[in-house]
Amino acid sequence: LSAEQLTSLRQQFPALHQEVNGKPLIYLDNGATTHKPNAVINALVDYYQQHNSNVHRGAHTLSDRATEYFENARKTVQCFLNAAKPEEIVWTKGTTESINLVAATWGRSNIKSGDRILVSAMEHHANIVPWQVLCEQTGAELQPIPVLENGELDMVAFESLLTPDVKLVSVVHVSNALGTINPVADIIRLAHTNGSKVLIDGAQAVAHWDIDVQALDADFYAFSGHKLFGPTGIGVLYGKEALLNAMPPYQTGGEMIEHVSFAKTTYNGLPYKFEAGTPNIAGAIGLAAAVDYLNGLDRVALAAHEDALLARANERAAEIGGIRIIGNAAHKASVFGFILEGAHPADVGTLLDQQGIAVRTGHHCAMPIMEQFKVPGTVRASFTFYNTLEEVDALFKGLEKAKMFLL
Ligand code: PMP
Repeated sequence: LSAEQLTSLRQQFPALHQEVNGKPLIYLDNGATTHKPNAVINALVDYYQQHNSNVHRGAHTLSDRATEYFENARKTVQCFLNAAKPEEIVWTKGTTESINLVAATWGRSNIKSGDRILVSAMEHHANIVPWQVLCEQTGAELQPIPVLENGELDMVAFESLLTPDVKLVSVVHVSNALGTINPVADIIRLAHTNGSKVLIDGAQAVAHWDIDVQALDADFYAFSGHKLFGPTGIGVLYGKEALLNAMPPYQTGGEMIEHVSFAKTTYNGLPYKFEAGTPNIAGAIGLAAAVDYLNGLDRVALAAHEDALLARANERAAEIGGIRIIGNAAHKASVFGFILEGAHPADVGTLLDQQGIAVRTGHHCAMPIMEQFKVPGTVRASFTFYNTLEEVDALFKGLEKAKMFLL
């Protein structure tokens, strides 16, 4: 990206232009959540100012309009993921709820004692604990696919773990802790050959490149709006129509029913069967605005810029020394997790914050992989397209200061 292109991109994100602790904000915590472009903020304001109404209750014009925007938002996300049908897009409140939905519905009707579920050892807790609970309830067994020293998935071990009792493989597309891009197409192909279903946690992937769920042949794909420049409180579960149709409902109440009587209740069709209660209408519209915004950009150029940011971080780290990078996979997204040797990650984070630099520190909700690397946590700088090479340089200047202070 040229300097002019970056400047005009950054102008779309009002939150970037502020001072924190007396210094210009350098926001390198995009893995936790991204900032929102004006297109998203304006869509939310416009919805509440002009169209606010409950959906699918259409006795009046505003309600019809809200319903139309809400369902168009679903189609926008359908196209974004290249799903075959809008009915395959279920609104949730985020990745966590999407995975819990599959565990609670598909899981309880398909997993039984003696079955096995494979996740990777680099999963976020959101893709561990729902399966652990399901296994406790059903007598199935949860097994981690090992991760190699460089942060890549051990595909040889995966193939040997993949026996006929494996009913589900649930893996992260991009690790939030290590940045590793997992070979999900291969994982899905191998799992399908074995007769296993596959869920992909796409929370950290969607912000970096376009996803095609049909090309991947994913059975389920989950992500959160807030990590894709959209609002918090909205997320997506993609599921293949036949699978979703066969699953029992998740939460129950209004919207998800077809007919209710005290004798028997029948359920609504897809996707409403999984959307009990008034949905996050504004959130869905805001998320669609984020997708439209991204569709208007050259995402290949943005990804190349992110690669350049990561490459610069690697160079600077080698220059200043004393930095142990956690996660050295050959294919990595722009996630830079590290330890400053001799310093606690939390102290490093505090000193960076004093310089206006926002990073995340800690275990990143991925305690098992932190344990494997024998670290209490890491400092994580996660870059996105609106970050600049100068910001990466500033991170390392900040680290040099932190080093002087702490070591
Ligand atoms: N999976 C991964 C890989 C994540 O990075 C996150 C968010 N840190 C989640 C799942 C959970 O997402 P959410 O909190 O938005 O539900």
